[in-house]
Amino acid sequence: MQNLITNIPLLPADRPANAPPAFHMLVKPTGATCNLDCAYCFFLAKELLYPGSRFRMADELLENYLRQLVEAHESPEVVIAWQGGEPTLMGLPFFRRSIDYAKRYLRPGQRLVNTIQTNGTLLDDEWAVFFKENEFLVGISIDGPRAMHDTYRTDKGGAPTFDRVMRGLSFLQKHGVEWNALVTLNHSNAEHPLEVYRFLRDECKARFIQFIPIVERLHENGVPFGTAITDRSISAQQYGQFLIEVFEEWVRHDIASVYVQMFDVALANWYGEPSGLCVFSKTCGTALAMEHNGDVYSCDHFVEPAFKLGNIHESHLIELVASDQQVKFGRDKFDTLPRYCRECDVRFACHGACPKDRFINTSDGEPGLNYLCEGYKMFFHHIRPAMEMMVQLLRMNRAPSEVMAMYAARDRQWQERLARTGRNDPCPCGSGKKFKVCHGRKQNTGAVQ
Ligand code: SF4
Ligand code: SF4
Repeated sequence: MQNLITNIPLLPADRPANAPPAFHMLVKPTGATCNLDCAYCFFLAKELLYPGSRFRMADELLENYLRQLVEAHESPEVVIAWQGGEPTLMGLPFFRRSIDYAKRYLRPGQRLVNTIQTNGTLLDDEWAVFFKENEFLVGISIDGPRAMHDTYRTDKGGAPTFDRVMRGLSFLQKHGVEWNALVTLNHSNAEHPLEVYRFLRDECKARFIQFIPIVERLHENGVPFGTAITDRSISAQQYGQFLIEVFEEWVRHDIASVYVQMFDVALANWYGEPSGLCVFSKTCGTALAMEHNGDVYSCDHFVEPAFKLGNIHESHLIELVASDQQVKFGRDKFDTLPRYCRECDVRFACHGACPKDRFINTSDGEPGLNYLCEGYKMFFHHIRPAMEMMVQLLRMNRAPSEVMAMYAARDRQWQERLARTGRNDPCPCGSGKKFKVCHGRKQNTGAVQ
């Protein structure tokens, strides 16, 4: 339905039957344009989709989008999510206008939640004051301590960016802006879980942490080349081990003080609540992406012609979100699961994870298994006892953080047992080896896992 004079799509009189009350739309006002040139960035290749474009969202589109976004929501919260490329390249006035426009259309009882994902390098006092005033949640991309961060996160001249990111972060901290760390796990940092986690927790004072595994497929003439991945990618085994080691630290010291998205989501699934994250939900389809020119795609990971739903200059956002194509996209997450996943004992926690990474075969040759499956299985099996304890506590109206005391008691008992074991005795861990070549070795007397 269009306004006959301006030709702008209007909210359809009848809301589509299957329209969700709320959804998440990642918007890239600069398209793939960025001031950095991170080696693994998949957005840069998307520039090829829009040859000749200036990659800047026009003001008229900005207002049109925000009107449609607010109109499309039936929930009290309307999330405005900016991403890139590097969205701060649009300049602060663009974001000031975004707030003004969105507020014009809010209905009574609705409120805005503003989020932005940035590499942090262009932030200063003025940005931080603006974020604070408008209660932005700012995602900062940082891959760990200097050497790990600078391996792949470089600028266009190949120069390191660690200092510029830390400087940007310091403005957010100075002004008390809420922020979360977005950490890609790749070949450089995958083998250093504790170093990465402790750096974020202790030096950056991060309280919200999100880990994103880098799985980059090799392409030949634009088409994925079998199941081959780049050297920068993380292996499934590395991913599982990384999460396990961070979990072992977190479960002893940081429950309720540091929020690691993966652990929160796992607890929700164990508890039987919606996890809130598409990757670990049965179906997806409510996390879409919009390009700088109004083109809407099924998901940020599927900004490709086959997954384009339309353009908000021509159709109202709610019609695209509720379109048959998008509903099918979301349902396919479950409908295309291989039998191996359907019969998996941790499917309730994993749900086959993200379809973008489902490109390997199961052991009996069925296609569509997630490349990271081995890591997910390791991790979900490993955390099962702790998750079950936390769920029990929650059901008794007690805090899951009580698990930390249980772990501390268990660790004490373990250390006492080790202290009583002779060098040539069998190791108490049950490995069948002598103590002196197992947990009796100096470097191996840590907590039982
Ligand atoms: S394809 Fe993956 S990232 Fe995209 S909405 Fe589905 S689960 Fe989420
Ligand atoms: S752990 Fe592996 S088999 Fe199980 S649901 Fe996840 S991807 Fe499928």
